[in-house]
Amino acid sequence: MNASRLNQLLAALFLASMTQQAFAYTTIKCGGSSTKWSGNNYTVRASSVGFPVGPWRDALSSVISHWNGNPSNLSFGVVWNEPAVAANNNENEAWWEANNGPNIGTYPAVTYVWFKSDCALKEADVIFNNSVAYHYTTSKTSLWPYGGANRPFQTTAMHEFGHAAGLAHTANTYNIMGSDWTHIHANGATATAYSGEDANNGLVAVYGLWAGGPEDLGVVHWKHIGSSGEYSTHGRTRILNTSNIELTKVAGTTEPVYRVNKGQTIKLELTYENLGKTSPLAAKVGYYLSSNDIISVADRFLGEGNVTLYRGVPDTTFNTFLVIPSDLVSGQTYWVGAIIDYNNAYSERSETNNATYIGIRVN
Ligand SMILES: [Zn+2]
Repeated sequence: MNASRLNQLLAALFLASMTQQAFAYTTIKCGGSSTKWSGNNYTVRASSVGFPVGPWRDALSSVISHWNGNPSNLSFGVVWNEPAVAANNNENEAWWEANNGPNIGTYPAVTYVWFKSDCALKEADVIFNNSVAYHYTTSKTSLWPYGGANRPFQTTAMHEFGHAAGLAHTANTYNIMGSDWTHIHANGATATAYSGEDANNGLVAVYGLWAGGPEDLGVVHWKHIGSSGEYSTHGRTRILNTSNIELTKVAGTTEPVYRVNKGQTIKLELTYENLGKTSPLAAKVGYYLSSNDIISVADRFLGEGNVTLYRGVPDTTFNTFLVIPSDLVSGQTYWVGAIIDYNNAYSERSETNNATYIGIRVN
C-alpha cells in the first residue's frame, strides 16, 4: 500500500469515527461532573396564576409531553395549580414574572437550579418574563421565525426545560439549547417546537439510553450558521446551483423563494435529524415538488436518496441533486421538499416532523 493510499484510508477512518462520536451538547456541571436528577424524573409544578386551564397550560403541557418522549431514561411530568411558587423552596416550579433578581429583566426566561450536597439536582425553577411578546400559537405566520410579531413560547419553554434536565448552552451546532426560536419545524402553516437531536443525545449521555424508547427521524429547513457567545445562531437552508452557488432569491418575500429555470439541476440543502433511540439509523428520503408549502407523498415525486444518521449532531447537507421539471408554469411559485422515511419503514414517535419545504419561483 503506497503512502497516498494509506493517507486516504486513515482519512476515511478518521471521518468515520468523528461521525460516530460527534456531539455538541454541554451539561450543567457540579463538582466538575454533569449534574442530574437522581430519580431519573423531573416533574414541575406550574403556577395556578400563570398556567390556568386554557391555551398557555396546553402549550406548557405539549412541551413537557414532548420532552417526556426523549430517548433517554429521564422522564418529565407536570402538576397543575401550584398556588405558592418561590425560588429555593424544594419544589420544581414554573411561573411568569416581570422581575426576578438581576437577570430576568434582560432574559426572556431563566432557569435556576440548586444542587444537593452530592451534586445531584435538588430543585429547578423556570421563570418566563411576562413582558416578552410570547404567543402559544403554532400558526407560523404569527411567529418571529416566519415573519410574525410573536416569540414562540413553546421553543423557549423547550430550551428552559432542557436546562431543568441538566443541559447547558451549545454554540457549535443547530440545537434548542443554542437558539430557541429558530429551532422549529414547519411543513405547511404549522410551526412546532421540538427538542432536537443534539439535546436528545445529551440526555442519553447523562441518563442512559431508554431501551423501550421511540424511533424518530426529522427534517427541517433550518441550520447552524454561526454563534454569539455561548449561543448558536441559525438560518434557513438554501437552494444552490451545481457549482454550489446559492441561487438568487425573489425580493420581498417573508420566507426564501429561489428563482429556478425549467430543466435546471439544483441542489437542495436541508437538515436531517435522528432524534430517537437507534444510532445509526438508515432511511430513505423522498424528494417532491408541490403547488403549496405542504410536502406530502401525494406531491410530484422528483427522486429519492439515502441517509444514515447517527444520533449526535444534526446533518445539514446540500448533496441532493434535483431537476426542476420542464412543464412548470413560468412566474408561478412552487415548493420543493423532502420526506424522510417516505416509504414508512419505521414506526416513529412523530410522523409530522418528517417533511419540510423551500419555495421556488420558475423563470
Ligand atoms: Zn438558556
